[in-house]
Amino acid sequence: MSKPDVTLIEDEPSIADTVIYALESEGYAVRWKQSGREAIEQVRAGSPQIVILDIGLPDLNGFEVFREIRAFSQVPVIFLTARAEEIDRVTGLEMGADDYIVKPFSPRELTARVRAVLRRVQAGSDTVDVDVGPFVIDEPSWTIRFHGQALDLTRHEFQILGILLKSPGQIFSRDHLLDRVWDAPEHRLDRTVDTHIKNIRAKLRAIDADADPIKTKRGVGYFASWSN
Ligand code: CA
Repeated sequence: MSKPDVTLIEDEPSIADTVIYALESEGYAVRWKQSGREAIEQVRAGSPQIVILDIGLPDLNGFEVFREIRAFSQVPVIFLTARAEEIDRVTGLEMGADDYIVKPFSPRELTARVRAVLRRVQAGSDTVDVDVGPFVIDEPSWTIRFHGQALDLTRHEFQILGILLKSPGQIFSRDHLLDRVWDAPEHRLDRTVDTHIKNIRAKLRAIDADADPIKTKRGVGYFASWSN
């Protein structure tokens, strides 16, 4: 991937300058927008490889921008957050970002995160479908089907479920899942994994109310198991 296009959505010029300088130094082409509306149009017209999205914007908030982008694009999105309550929303039930960075952040942290997200997307597009019990993992499209129905998963949910499904019966600790799925040590909270597992289970139950293929091993972690 040479010169990936990045759309940056950030209303504060000083922060935008830092981001643009850091990414351009690494060879990214950055398109900067200061409002949500402009940014959505930029993403639609420019098809960037990745979007960096501030939550506090002058018109729409970042969550609204994210929802509108998701209506037409699966481009990876990294949120820039400033406050604890925003982090809760990003990691929580409703949103589930590809990743997020807490302000203030260092240029190095930002570029590392962008590289990691792009690498994961790239890795996902090189592999093939995997059948596991009632599931099919369709990696190129970041989709997992359950009893033939596509689950509407966030990227982190997709990764966690994929790890569990590929080794049925094997117990994975929260730490192991955090290491495999998240890059930033400072965001390694056990409840991050628990929240995602809870969301995944709810999505499975929406397809099959009696399904319980993701089991908890108390005090140890999680594993996938089903009988058919
Ligand atoms: Ca802002």
